[in-house]
Amino acid sequence: MTTLHVVSVSGGKDSTATLLLALDKVPRNQIMAIFCDTGNEIPVTHAYLDILEQHLGITIHRLTADFSTEIMTKRSFVARDRRNRREYRTAPVFDAHGQPAPKRDGRGRIVMRTVKRDGVMVQEPVQKTRKVGGGHRVRWSNKAKRRALAVLHPTGNPFLDLCLWKGRFPSRMTQFCTEELKRNMAVEFQLKLIDQGFSVVSWQGIRRGESPNRRNAKKSERIGPRLWTFRPLVDWTAQQTVDFVRRQACPLNPLYSQGQSRVGCVCINSGKMDLAQIAFRYPEEIARLAEWELQVSDASKRGYSTFMCDSDSRTDGRAIFADLNIHARVRWAKGDNGTMDLFDQLDVPVCASAYGLCE
Ligand code: SF4
Repeated sequence: MTTLHVVSVSGGKDSTATLLLALDKVPRNQIMAIFCDTGNEIPVTHAYLDILEQHLGITIHRLTADFSTEIMTKRSFVARDRRNRREYRTAPVFDAHGQPAPKRDGRGRIVMRTVKRDGVMVQEPVQKTRKVGGGHRVRWSNKAKRRALAVLHPTGNPFLDLCLWKGRFPSRMTQFCTEELKRNMAVEFQLKLIDQGFSVVSWQGIRRGESPNRRNAKKSERIGPRLWTFRPLVDWTAQQTVDFVRRQACPLNPLYSQGQSRVGCVCINSGKMDLAQIAFRYPEEIARLAEWELQVSDASKRGYSTFMCDSDSRTDGRAIFADLNIHARVRWAKGDNGTMDLFDQLDVPVCASAYGLCE
């Protein structure tokens, strides 16, 4: 039985290093490089993938998600929505001693739930809650229906179509973009290979130091029948990865030299410096996101959605949109509150990389 080694390439340094390691250890005819195209990448990344293909003499398979069925299903749901239920904000209930009051079912029994505490799964009572305020209708209003039905058409761009379908942009708490645009696509690709009779090793450029979520990442794991993951970089630092790629005389994504700490998508989690860099060098990407914000807002039942910082405790959608839209976020990144103007710092023709990419 042939084993295929599927390497997920994102255009970033970690996945490039992983691909180089795979090419060093595994026969070329057993390697399949894949790139999940989110439709939200800066075009430089696509150009970089072309260069990488030429430099390494390989083909990188582009995978693109399609949400046209989901959008059409949502269209008919919105058009036919006649629900008359109301939704309420809730507040926790405490007993006379200030202790959380437990929720009880119809027979008076305490409702329990399973949660993870310090890495151990435990059972604990669910706290009782009470309704606050008059609530609001769950149903789409006729005005919101008209607005949404005008924009709910597949555009062919996976990121935009995903947000139109969900009626919102992803956020740090609900990061459905990674799952829908990258993970699901890669898994689907690998399952098809397994169905064709191959065993699959999925090479992933994940480092434990990247984020707290990844601090326990295993170097290798069996995921299912004939499917394993292999993460050769788990112990590496970011600088080690960059140094390794450079020692192999392999090009890196030019976005690093432009000061980006993360490359690929224009990310919903971008920090101040990354956002300021994008706005400075690629203003057309900011214009694209501003246009997307209008479209996704129209597809949203509440009438607004912003690319970054989607949640806000206020109820005035217009005020929230005015404060959090992408142009406002760019102003925040520039530091127009008088603290710092990053654009002044950027207006110099030098390498801005944090990894010392300039000689
Ligand atoms: S988390 Fe950021 S990089 Fe990942 S898919 Fe979402 S927007 Fe793109």
